[in-house]
Amino acid sequence: MSYDPNNIFAKILRSELPCAKVYEDNQTLAFMDIMPQKQGHTLVIPKEPAETLLDLSPEAAANLINKVQTIAAAVKTAMQADGITIFQLNGAAAGQTVPHIHFHIIPGSILEAKTHASTMADPEELNKVAKLIAQAL
Ligand code: AMP
Repeated sequence: MSYDPNNIFAKILRSELPCAKVYEDNQTLAFMDIMPQKQGHTLVIPKEPAETLLDLSPEAAANLINKVQTIAAAVKTAMQADGITIFQLNGAAAGQTVPHIHFHIIPGSILEAKTHASTMADPEELNKVAKLIAQAL
């Protein structure tokens, strides 16, 4: 499927929309999910335009999982979580709502988390948590 350059995450990458940033380099951006399923819910996205993991180049996929590992460790430390959940949805049929590949990182278990993309968080709170995670990197 063709990539939609006007999806929300493409706009965040172009700084047309704000985000509570955790980490950025020339290939990756990590920021807080605006509707966190738990405090500390972080998204990691590649800068390469791709809708799903299957559309991403192998090089970008390798780099992305490397960054997910690093950022997940920081989320675990910052949120003082005993465990960490990482998931990633591919295609609307799988429940993907934003068509730019992203990994979700959630402290602890998703079983006791809020429903996916259901409740907006306070932007100030998101910035506070983003800072905590960035400090743990
Ligand atoms: P998915 O359903 O896997 O595509 O997940 C998309 C995620 O993006 C959901 O968890 C949403 O809460 C989150 N989301 C949607 N819009 C924004 C935004 N502007 N900033 C940060 N997260 C967002």
